[in-house]
Amino acid sequence: MGAVRTLSYDAIIIGGGAAGLYCAMHAGRRGKRVLVIEHNSEVGAKILISGGGRCNFTNLHAAPDRFISANPHFARSALARHTQHDFIALVEKHRIPYYEKTLGQLFCEGPRSSRKIAQMLLDECAATQVAIRTGCLVTRVERGESFRVETNQGAFEGAALIIATGGLPIPKLGATGFAFDIAKQFAIPMTPTRPALVPLTFDERYLQWMQSLSGVSTEVVLSIGKVAFREAALFTHRGLSGPAVLQISSYWSNPQTYIKVDWLPDAGEDMLVAAKRERPLALPKTVIAAHVPERLASTLAAAHPPRQLGAWKDEALITFTQRQLKGALIQANGTEGYAKAEVMAGGIDTDALSQQSMETRAVPGLYFIGEAVDVTGWLGGYNFQWAWSSGWAAAQSL
Ligand SMILES: Cc1cc2nc3c(=O)[nH]c(=O)nc-3n(C[C@H](O)[C@H](O)[C@H](O)COP(=O)(O)OP(=O)(O)OC[C@H]3O[C@@H](n4cnc5c(N)ncnc54)[C@H](O)[C@@H]3O)c2cc1C
Repeated sequence: MGAVRTLSYDAIIIGGGAAGLYCAMHAGRRGKRVLVIEHNSEVGAKILISGGGRCNFTNLHAAPDRFISANPHFARSALARHTQHDFIALVEKHRIPYYEKTLGQLFCEGPRSSRKIAQMLLDECAATQVAIRTGCLVTRVERGESFRVETNQGAFEGAALIIATGGLPIPKLGATGFAFDIAKQFAIPMTPTRPALVPLTFDERYLQWMQSLSGVSTEVVLSIGKVAFREAALFTHRGLSGPAVLQISSYWSNPQTYIKVDWLPDAGEDMLVAAKRERPLALPKTVIAAHVPERLASTLAAAHPPRQLGAWKDEALITFTQRQLKGALIQANGTEGYAKAEVMAGGIDTDALSQQSMETRAVPGLYFIGEAVDVTGWLGGYNFQWAWSSGWAAAQSL
């Protein structure tokens, strides 16, 4: 029997998700021979389910201050050199209809339209002869003169090895800690990881009244320290969810953290005092209900006995508004974890990477891109933009 020839490439990319496919197509455009290794039977599982099936593929307002990282400056270079407008141009080249839903969030049009983004990436990869192997399980990675990747489909050699296996959220879609195994193997440091963009859970103190409001949605401002998000919050049978909660969850670290809630973002602190002048016989609940759903108004007003506004001192109304309506403090006791998280915070320590190319400083030729890196975007298309920008940056340096 003759010896089996090991196929060799300029770059092997492990992980056929957003960052991996985008990196592959740009490397292919630059004439590189590229292999993408994906262990699922299909690439881009998260692209397909993203944005409720419509893929919120970027955000018009993408900028470094909308990303969380131990080094807030790390993402600047890649985000500035390959922007949301570059990705939008590709979407337009492929004639994929899209629209701005809210707050700069760009979504594809129509049910299951996220498939068009995955197909676009596959078409671009095919156009530059990128090889893609699905159902391909990596059993061993070694580094000699180049990288040798052993799999259930044979061994492959790559001058560069790019790890694009994403983060830990949604294990049932094939998420793994592969990037961290490789980091360990090559002594690349990591920052602690945690679920982010995730619903928060609460203990009995809060659960009772939150559950009684299950299904109610209202626009709030949630803040931790100086970070504040004005978006919808949704009461659920498990606690609180909705965009505002997902956003603030990325900044929540432990049960001691206080989250400040402004239930009435459009009302001033003198709201009840002003109402008292005009309608002294009205109950606070009636005034509050002009701003929030009736059931929530009843719960918020129940913090005090139901006295007509005229029976309150002005200072008492202001204090009540400040403490219960516009500056309520709540404490979550946890999150719903990686099973429900949209993204992972933390990951490969950015100090170990070049911010121009995502290449590790310690191991030439080894790169990490996408969610595996300690760069986490806000809700709203930012995480895909990081996948595109970091994938592009790596492709330029191959
Ligand atoms: C429900 C949900 C909805 C989301 N919606 C949005 C949205 O609308 N907009 C947005 O910006 N972000 C959204 N996100 C986040 C976004 O999907 C991710 O941040 C993004 O996909 C990260 O890209 P990535 O390429 O780093 O990782 P992924 O896209 O997760 O790709 C990693 C790939 O590596 C593969 N892989 C893992 N381990 C191995 C292994 N050992 N061997 C081989 N292959 C492996 C995986 O199967 C996967 O295909 C959403 C996330 C979830 C969970």
